[in-house]
Amino acid sequence: MTMPQPTMALPSRVVWILDRLEAAGFSAYVVGGCVRDSLLGVTPGDWDICTSASPEQTRQVFSDFRQILTGMKHGTVAVLCDGKTYEITTYRQDGAYADHRHPGTVQFVQGVEGDLARRDFTVNAMAYHPAAGLVDCFGGQQDLAARCIRCVGDPTVRFSEDALRVLRAVRFASQLDFTIDDATARAAASLRDSVQNVSPERIFTEIDRLLAGPAAGRVLAEYGEILAGAIPEIAPCIGCTQPGRWHCYDVWRHTAGAVDAVRKTLSPESARIVRWAMLLHDMAKPLCRTVGPDGAAHFPGHNQRGAQLADKILRSLRAPTALRLEVCSLVAVHDGPLPQEDPEILRLLARHGETWLERLCAVKQADLAAHARKPAVQAREQEVERFEKRMHTLARTGCYTLQGLKVGGGDVLAAGIRPGPEVGQALHTLLEDVMDGTLPNDRDRLLQELKLLADHTR
Ligand code: ATP
Ligand code: MG
Repeated sequence: MTMPQPTMALPSRVVWILDRLEAAGFSAYVVGGCVRDSLLGVTPGDWDICTSASPEQTRQVFSDFRQILTGMKHGTVAVLCDGKTYEITTYRQDGAYADHRHPGTVQFVQGVEGDLARRDFTVNAMAYHPAAGLVDCFGGQQDLAARCIRCVGDPTVRFSEDALRVLRAVRFASQLDFTIDDATARAAASLRDSVQNVSPERIFTEIDRLLAGPAAGRVLAEYGEILAGAIPEIAPCIGCTQPGRWHCYDVWRHTAGAVDAVRKTLSPESARIVRWAMLLHDMAKPLCRTVGPDGAAHFPGHNQRGAQLADKILRSLRAPTALRLEVCSLVAVHDGPLPQEDPEILRLLARHGETWLERLCAVKQADLAAHARKPAVQAREQEVERFEKRMHTLARTGCYTLQGLKVGGGDVLAAGIRPGPEVGQALHTLLEDVMDGTLPNDRDRLLQELKLLADHTR
């Protein structure tokens, strides 16, 4: 199939960079993700350039600009223009890969075609020049139209060279909402264990980006076998059956459904935490599975075991500490009851704060959304909804901190209580009564109460 020759809008600075390289006698193209994104109608995050100029020659051509040279041995010179960084890389081919991750050597090559052949997927292996048009030697445009991730060349060879590509395949499938070509998916699954050669930080970043993609749920459900190469605890979740009273999915399909159901209205920070929590929330179920006398599966203790497992997994992936702690705290209670009475809701607000409770509600909601549509499940959903509504109202109007109390330390002293620990104790006593609803948060009433307290302590 011949595809139409597209035209792409390049930023004027990028055109200027290409022109300058050409004026110096070299060829140059924009390449990779920026070409893919432009053809998809998405604004590229950055513009990478490839060129026939050697790194030294590129340095010469842009000698009047600040340059970052950390990528020189891979052929990359980063040029800083107008506060932005443009990576300019010499056409190259990668030598043999010794460790499933890093090419032993890098060879510079003559034409752009040779450079495109080293790239991971057909949709990432296109170059463009305003006059020369699109260079697409591997059917990238066709795969874009078919929404398909396919390796350039033999997938087994390409994944054996660099195991990170296994994860990039699933990450791009989620980020772009693409499928993975059968041969590419099969090779990724059979080489999944080589992902253990990738640095934990890179694995974390790829999964983090996968989870943030619009098709995360579908991709997790479809490619769990591949991802088990990155997180081995996934494997026993696949096919781990659950009681039909609540569930219609095995643990892994349920997990994928729960990630998919994370509500879209959360802040970016909360969304990231809740997505990770959903990925990990039931991972201890295979470890906790018992079958009761009724023949149904039960998972006693899977909350707590799940939090321990989440901690272990996130530590091994070198996840940011704050994210790890938040995720584990949510996994530990994801299945617990929620109170419906104000005094208890206020105490939860005092202990955890509104943001954490909102995340907990989002976790519970996503979890329940991936259950069977049974009345008992719907009743729980309504419970979460009621709790959350009331919790937000009380966060705005209720009193659950000493700062919210209409009297302070000065009033306690004025009432005649001695300076020292008694001051704090008196305020805490008032706060407890206010949260219980036995005392209104009204200044005059609180002052009266303080007088009584002072009389008692005297
Ligand atoms: P995004 O920046 O959205 O992740 P991208 O396609 O720009 O997407 P980068 O990681 O920035 O991805 O890499 C730029 C280009 O370099 C890719 O489009 C691809 O052509 C090539 N590339 C990156 N990583 C690899 C790899 N591990 N193996 C082969 N080619 C790669
Ligand atoms: Mg990029």
